[in-house]
Amino acid sequence: MNRASAEASGSVSLVGAGPGDPGLITVAGRERLRRADVVVYDRLAHPALLAEAPAAAERIYVGKAPSEHAVAQDEIGRLLVDRARAGKRVVRLKGGDPFVFGRGGEEADDLVAAGVDFDVVPGITSAVAVPAYAGIPITHRDAASSFAVVTGHEAPGKPASRIDWAALATGVDTLVFLMGRRALAGIAARLIAEGRDPATPAAAIEWGATPRQRTVAAPLAELAAAAEAAALVPPAVIVVGQVAALRDRLRWYDGRPLFGKRVLVTRTRAQASTLSRALREAGAEPIEFPAIEIVPCDPAPAVAAAGRLSDGRYDWAVFTSANGVAAFRRALEAAGLDARAFGGVRLAAIGPATAEALDALGLRADVVPDRFVAEALADALEPRIAAGERVLLPRAAGSRDVLPSRLRAAGAEVEDLPVYESRRPAEPDPAVVARIEAGEIDIATFTASSTVRGCLDLLGGRAELLREVTIACIGPITARTATEAGLRVDVVAREHTIPGLMAALLEHAGRETDHDYAHASAHA
Ligand code: SAH
Repeated sequence: MNRASAEASGSVSLVGAGPGDPGLITVAGRERLRRADVVVYDRLAHPALLAEAPAAAERIYVGKAPSEHAVAQDEIGRLLVDRARAGKRVVRLKGGDPFVFGRGGEEADDLVAAGVDFDVVPGITSAVAVPAYAGIPITHRDAASSFAVVTGHEAPGKPASRIDWAALATGVDTLVFLMGRRALAGIAARLIAEGRDPATPAAAIEWGATPRQRTVAAPLAELAAAAEAAALVPPAVIVVGQVAALRDRLRWYDGRPLFGKRVLVTRTRAQASTLSRALREAGAEPIEFPAIEIVPCDPAPAVAAAGRLSDGRYDWAVFTSANGVAAFRRALEAAGLDARAFGGVRLAAIGPATAEALDALGLRADVVPDRFVAEALADALEPRIAAGERVLLPRAAGSRDVLPSRLRAAGAEVEDLPVYESRRPAEPDPAVVARIEAGEIDIATFTASSTVRGCLDLLGGRAELLREVTIACIGPITARTATEAGLRVDVVAREHTIPGLMAALLEHAGRETDHDYAHASAHA
């Protein structure tokens, strides 16, 4: 691209990230992130959203917690203009909606003044979503026909305040204050002084729509003291109005089975997302701690095997992981071949995720066992494989011997082909190690024996760090590895898949709750 056209294509998108839960960004917002060259973000934009941007994109943090001003506002404007003028696609990612107290209007002004092309992707504002996550609808047919969103920064005593307190106190049903935690006592006193009933239901919600969400509910006159007693901190949304009483009935999120649980996800970074998403939906905070990484083996043997496959030299191809399918696909490509090389070869997959990886190549597995372990795959294959048939088995280096030895015993000729290796990453994320050391983890999940070994390796063999942690394994083999490594296994999935692991975790959480109730009533 030449200089002139690069300059012409630079632009800025002011994107609302939504509050808390990273799933609350819009489709359009995520689209912008995926094409970004530069992401300029602040503290209320969820870190998981940064992973949506291309790896090569520049990520710039500009603050700001109430006490820090990482980058001054006019500098942010200059930064956006400079990057856009350098031809970059810039995403300015802001918590909630960019035009609700986000100073998005000022940033847009800077862009207009500089003649920079820009657009705005609205976001879900915390003013509406945070009460919703606390079970408070900001309007309700019986309880509220109007709402106002008010800044808590124009403290009630401030002489130049543009807020018409008298009108707010009596003229609007639901009042939502943002940035109001510190001024809460003053806000409540002023509303009451201007005529609002001190008994009006009210609530303050800290870190809404996240697993850290905490809600304090009290009549308006008592809310500040209650928030103080609970040591509630910003960011918090304050809701005043009859709707705040509906929480008792409509509360949903913070009652979820895994709400607030901090869960270690030890799969590879690339594979973590499905489990992380399911955990978030159950109210948990996934903490990704990749304990393995997938590295391809020397490609030459796999490329040679791909050639033989194409020559019709195998009767069966048996896959025991989606990683194995991906690695063999690369071997096919390196051999200048594609899925047609499989021809009439029959296919087996150890479980649904592996079958899906084949499906993505347009290949349907002929055999998928009903339990997703090597033993069950051998059970399913034995009756179907005739003596002398040739089986290609592309899988991880160092895999267990069960499958090849049983197929050989059944008379098959098995070519065990290591196509990838799972290795422990060189360096663990020090922030996650610190959280483990501080006892901040509630549950650790293991989806393969290699993740157990990798995780303990990354912790310098200190299995005792996980003594108080609930250990959840995808199946019996992983569980055995964990037990042998000195861990006490609490949960083993009946179905050896990610949904199966989630189901087992939810069931376990349900049992714990029952147990707590039984315990409580025994003492009552
Ligand atoms: N543009 C944002 C608001 C920015 S002002 C939006 O539309 O949501 C920052 C204030 O938003 C915080 O002081 C707090 O009052 C509120 N806020 C944002 N995210 C929040 C969250 N997850 N939980 C509670 N309050 C939040």
